[in-house]
Order: sequence, then C-alpha cells, then structure tokens
Amino acid sequence: MTKKILIVGAGVAGLSAGIHACRNGYDVELYEMHNLPGGLCAAWARKDYTFDGCIHWLIGSRSGSQFNRLWREVGALKETKIIDHEIFMTIEDGSGKSLNIYSDLDHLQTHLLEMAPEDEIPVKQMIDAAKTMSKVNMPLEKPDEFFRIWDIPVMMIKMMPLFKVLGRFSRITVAEFLAELKNPFLKEALALVLPIDYTMTSLIGTLASLHSSDAGFPEGGSLPFARSIEQCFLELGGRIHYNSKVKQILVRDNGAYGLLLDNGSEVQGDYVISAADLHSTLYDLLGGKYLTPRIKDSFANLSLYSSAQVNLGLNTDLSSEAKKLVVRLDHPIDLGCGPNRYAYLTNYSFDPTLAPTGKSVLAAMVYSSYEYWGSPTSNRERYREKKEQLADKLIKAAVKRFPTIKDKIEVVDVVTPLTYNRYTAVWKGAYMAWIVPPSAGRFNIPRTLPDLKSFYLAGQWVSPPAGLPGSMLTGRHVIQVICRKDKKRFIKI
Ligand SMILES: Cc1cc2nc3c(=O)[nH]c(=O)nc-3n(C[C@H](O)[C@H](O)[C@H](O)COP(=O)(O)OP(=O)(O)OC[C@H]3O[C@@H](n4cnc5c(N)ncnc54)[C@H](O)[C@@H]3O)c2cc1C
Repeated sequence: MTKKILIVGAGVAGLSAGIHACRNGYDVELYEMHNLPGGLCAAWARKDYTFDGCIHWLIGSRSGSQFNRLWREVGALKETKIIDHEIFMTIEDGSGKSLNIYSDLDHLQTHLLEMAPEDEIPVKQMIDAAKTMSKVNMPLEKPDEFFRIWDIPVMMIKMMPLFKVLGRFSRITVAEFLAELKNPFLKEALALVLPIDYTMTSLIGTLASLHSSDAGFPEGGSLPFARSIEQCFLELGGRIHYNSKVKQILVRDNGAYGLLLDNGSEVQGDYVISAADLHSTLYDLLGGKYLTPRIKDSFANLSLYSSAQVNLGLNTDLSSEAKKLVVRLDHPIDLGCGPNRYAYLTNYSFDPTLAPTGKSVLAAMVYSSYEYWGSPTSNRERYREKKEQLADKLIKAAVKRFPTIKDKIEVVDVVTPLTYNRYTAVWKGAYMAWIVPPSAGRFNIPRTLPDLKSFYLAGQWVSPPAGLPGSMLTGRHVIQVICRKDKKRFIKI
C-alpha cells in the first residue's frame, strides 16, 4: 500500500523532500502557512518593482556542477539564465580606497597583493586554499546515516587535497584569520565579505564557488526559482495546501501520526516531516516534549545573525553603475548587534526583469538583531518609527553613493528580522540558522528525535549554515533515509 508523507513547510527543504518522496512512490501532502512557495527564498512586488528578499549567490548555478545536478533533480535552473558577476563586491572606505572581490582568484590575488604586499603569505594561503577547494567535489549525496567504516578510505582519497586546507582553516574563524593580516584596510574589507564568526572555510568555500562560476544569480530571482521547484513537485503529483498553518504535530504511542491545522482540521499520514523552522517545530508544534540536550544547548549558546534591508524602487536607470557595493557610513548604524560601519548596496539592474526599462531596484542592507525592533504588536507605532529612521539613514547612504537617485525614489520598502519571522516563523529572523564555531567541528542536528517514531526533520537548522543548497539537500537526505527504512531503492530522477 502507498504510504503517505505529511510535510510541514514549502521552503526549499520541504519542496525538495516532497519531490523526492513523490518520485519514490509516496503519497505526499505539504502544508504551508503562507500563500506562496519558497519560505525564506522570497521576493515581492511593489508597484513596478520586484524586491528580492533572498538570493545573493546560489551555489550550484553552473551547469554540470555537483549542486547544479541536485538543483535540476528538483526542477530548478533548467532553463534559467545565470548572471555571474566579475566583481562579487566592491568595498569602498569613503576616502577613495576600495577593494574588489573578484570572482577570478588570480585576479583577486593580484589585486590583494597590490593593495597589501605585506600580507603576501596569508593572502596566498587563502587563495591557494580556495583554488584547491574549487577543484574538489564534496561527497554530498549520501546522508550521514549511510556512512559506514569502509566508506572512510574512499572519502579520504577523494578529499585528500582538501585536508591541507581544512586542517588549518577549519579550525579558525574568519576573524582569527584576519587577525594575522597587517594591512588595516585589507583586514577591514575582508571582514565584510561574510560574518566574521564563520569558519574560515566558509569564506574560502565562497571564493572557490565564485571562481568556478558556481555562485551566480538566477535571472528572475528568488520567487521564480522557488516556483520552478514548486512546479516540479506538482507535476509529480504532490499536493500543496497553502494558507494552512500547522498548529500541532499529532503523536500517539510515541509516534507522529498527523497534523492539527490552525483551522481545527486533522490530517493523518504514515510519516511526518517538519521542514519548518526548528525552534517552532520543537517548542510549539511538539510542545517542547522532544528536545534533546544538543538542540537546547545550540539554541541557548550558538549565535545567530539577521539583517534589515531597505529596498528602493527608482525611476532612473542604474545599469551603468556598480552592482554590488559595500559603502562606509558617515555615522554607524547600531541595530542591537554592534555598530554597522558599512552598508551593503545591491544595484539589481544586473537583472532586467526586476524593474521596467529605465527604472532600477536598489537595496541597502545592514546587520540587525531581532530584539532591537521590539514587538510590533504591542508597540506598532514605535516599530514603524524605527523602520522610518532606518530608511532615512540608508537612503542618505545610497544617495551619497548614487547622487542621481535623489529625487527618483518611487517606492521605499523596509524589511526587518521580524518580517522574516512573520512570514516564515524563522527563529529570531535567523535566515542562515546558527553560526557554528570551528570548535563544534562537523555540526549536524540528527534528523530524527530519540523518542519520537515516524517523525523527521529537514531544513536549514539541520545542517547549518545551510543556505539554499544545504536546505534543499536536507530534503533529499530525509527521503533517502525513509526509503531505506521502507527497504526501497532510492530513485533519483
Ligand atoms: C535576506 C536573505 C538572504 C539570503 N541569501 C542567501 C543566498 O544568497 N544564498 C543562499 O543559499 N541562501 C540565502 N539565504 C538563506 C536561505 O534563504 C535559507 O537558508 C533557506 O531558504 C532555508 O530554507 P528552509 O526550507 O530550510 O526554510 P524556510 O525557507 O524557512 O521554509 C520553512 C517554511 O515553513 C513554513 N512554515 C513555518 N511554520 C509553519 C507552520 N506552523 N505551518 C505551516 N508552514 C509553516 C514557512 O512559511 C516556510 O515556507 C538568504 C536568506 C535571506 C532571508
């Protein structure tokens, strides 16, 4: 008899799980509280403009790469034009100094050494490591549960070139690497590429993916990207129930057997997968009964980050201007997580589908805590004021860098960590899950809970810092695990 899988959440993880489940002969129903697919992979229209709320770089964008094959399995990127940037970002200190993060590593190395010859040794180590990483295929397809002792020698051989890199850089954070540098501007500028608490291998991995043109932007942006995955799921016979918030995961005899929806109705299935936010899954949908010490400890002690963004719809053409800038602010902006001395400006005119001809979208982003914004329900007015204050400050910074936009602003749209939480329930707006310190080593949250049968976890928190590719992969892995449990051979495509 066909078994039924109920999935909570139509983000990339839930959709990916749904697709692989359908392909493997399960009957799948997916419940999503929003009226759209994609979860955090979101974009929205305001007047003439589309504001993209997610993708800056998508690992797996290059046809034929490892993640690209996995994206195609879930129906994404098949005919999508990919926009690659020659310069991933330019950091400008406001006094005329700037640093380009070139995608090409040779170009980047020359540029960095021209700027900071005194840092030749660490710069070359970083670039060499990124070049090595760009040539190595990580073993992605097998879930951790499937690794056996005899897999180790095979993996060792495959990963040999990486060990040298991982050995040193996986044990230090970006901040620790930067402390080795002598050139003050190089130190300051490289600290802006990724949050500095990430392991150095995250920065190296990003540079490696850019170098191999595997971290581009899919034309159309986040929503069409999510829609293509949704379409694949629907074509395989999956069913999505939008505007269907799950209130509780139903448990009987230590096994999950169904979902209670917000509207009071109940649905039953053989398995339940939650691809919704981990905190709300465990504390709300399961009532805090199945917490493990590891998960409790991670929520209590690991750091998170989020951001606030001001999107501008501009009645002017910025297509001849720089696309991705990090600009020094005249006055730092502190949104409860330390001063932002720089703001990230994305001039989306590299994607002509996001604004009408002759118009442009510009986004300005700074890091933000969740707590800074207070509660919008208890103090709506104060929340609105804070949003306006942030918009004023970031518009000033944008106008300073692009003076021609001054009287051309047609739409202003402000997004905060509370916005991410409201639309997807993501814990504290943390859209990359926890920042895992190097001391934690290989960090995955087990996808099953010790005392709860027939229940599985997927999504960004299971494999941080997952981003889109990692979240998608957790959806695939969970179905591989279920197939093995049901003694089925996993069918890929
Ligand atoms: C500003 C921003 C920039 C980003 N940039 C990048 C980038 O450049 N590259 C990259 O790879 N990643 C990026 N990310 C991260 C990436 O978007 C996420 O890591 C990824 O989308 C997480 O997917 P997920 O499926 O695990 O979770 P989610 O997308 O959070 O999906 C969970 C889904 O569950 C639904 N849900 C929650 N609770 C319930 C409930 N009770 N009932 C029913 N449904 C529920 C939510 O509505 C949501 O649709 C960015 C994110 C943001 C916000």
